[in-house]
Amino acid sequence: MRVFKFGGASVKNADAVRNVLHILRMYPDDQIIVVVSAMDKTTNRLEEVVQSILARREEAFTQQCKEILAFHERIVTALFSDAQAPIYKFLEEEFQALRKKFDDPISAHFGFEYDQVVSLGEILSSKILAAFLEQEGLTSAWLDARKLVRTDAHFKEANIDWGTTENLIRRSLSEIPTVPCFVTQGFIGHTQEGDTTTLGREGSDYSAAIFAYALKAKDVTIWKDVPGMLNADPKYFQNTQLLSSISYREAIELSYFGASVIHPKTVKPLQNKGIPLHIKSFISPHEDGTIIQQAHQFDH
Ligand code: ASP
Ligand code: MG
Repeated sequence: MRVFKFGGASVKNADAVRNVLHILRMYPDDQIIVVVSAMDKTTNRLEEVVQSILARREEAFTQQCKEILAFHERIVTALFSDAQAPIYKFLEEEFQALRKKFDDPISAHFGFEYDQVVSLGEILSSKILAAFLEQEGLTSAWLDARKLVRTDAHFKEANIDWGTTENLIRRSLSEIPTVPCFVTQGFIGHTQEGDTTTLGREGSDYSAAIFAYALKAKDVTIWKDVPGMLNADPKYFQNTQLLSSISYREAIELSYFGASVIHPKTVKPLQNKGIPLHIKSFISPHEDGTIIQQAHQFDH
């Protein structure tokens, strides 16, 4: 089992989604769990929706929902040949539910309200991707991370219950017939009570590590719009170099202090199980990128 993580930029439009299929086709012999983020800047847009609900700005709310729906419909229209494809109905239902949220009673808990709305981005992207793969003949199973990733109730920045998550993921995969590919969401989880939680902004990398940890995956690949990890942030330094192979410890240091290529929480769970992490370019998928692994495998 391998885990591939595709972030918002790698599914930002129809061509980008087609490119995900192209990359998956490069690995016909591997079973892959695809962890996907919300498309492009959808999470930011949904944060604005939450603000409108809380500030009771109905006009802004309606307009924002409309724009987010239109954005996803444009992608779906470009991807699906069948105008009756079930994905259209799915989108309409999800947005109907979102529109209702304006009139729902609002709890005093901002973080709770935030997570219930903002998690929609990953649900939409993962459903669209899974349906598209299906249309193109790549059978996949859609996994609901809101049933698999167990967290505490620290909304907006929930902490993982590792033991329960491991059991839930393992059990759920053992019940599904073998398929070449699973599609699930980054960034989201659920509490013991079944409420949706999120893991903190940019948390989809972390989700990939969580799934890999639970399944003791062969490796994780984070597909990015950069060639890999660099030795310094190109925003501030010239002549930066691509690091082809670094240790977990170096990767943790770089994720906190260097170029923010991966979410800082991602490396530790992989290090604990000795699972290698690749950072590769979705623009040049044949390039090697960076591998992060146990230091002794390449130290002299
Ligand atoms: N969609 C979420 C965010 O934009 C999670 C992620 O992209 O990693 O923060
Ligand atoms: Mg994102």
